[in-house]
Amino acid sequence: MDLPPPISKRAWDKHAILDNRGCIIGIHDDAPEWAREAYNMQLTYHDWVINKMQNNLTDLQSNGFKHYCYTATLDASTCPICGSLDGKIFKITDSVIGVNTPPIHLKCRCSVTVVFDDETLTNSKRIARDKNGRNIFVPANMFYHEYREEYLK
Ligand SMILES: [Zn+2]
Repeated sequence: MDLPPPISKRAWDKHAILDNRGCIIGIHDDAPEWAREAYNMQLTYHDWVINKMQNNLTDLQSNGFKHYCYTATLDASTCPICGSLDGKIFKITDSVIGVNTPPIHLKCRCSVTVVFDDETLTNSKRIARDKNGRNIFVPANMFYHEYREEYLK
């Protein structure tokens, strides 16, 4: 299979079907082969991520954990939906991928982490990016909205 050419936003706008967040949810019937292949690769990767997430939750459960913490990426590209879920704790048995478990959308960079007590979190750090894209470390118990206020303004 040949690799698809670099895809411009204009080319995707012509061939892609977007949801109300701007995520590609399909391609038009008359889209060229390169667009189909690119979209199919994206779906295949998305399915792989979903399977990986289901395995991660199964592993957590089999190691005695009952809850997980939704963890969004702390940088300027994080979408408002993922940002609002950051730090929220859910029961593993209530997990619904796409609702309270990543991936929430295609190209979602979120993950889940085990739930630690607050003392452990206060003494731990979490990696983030400042507004210039440089890696920084912030307190592990900092939520996305706090990070955004302190580091992206
Ligand atoms: Zn996400």
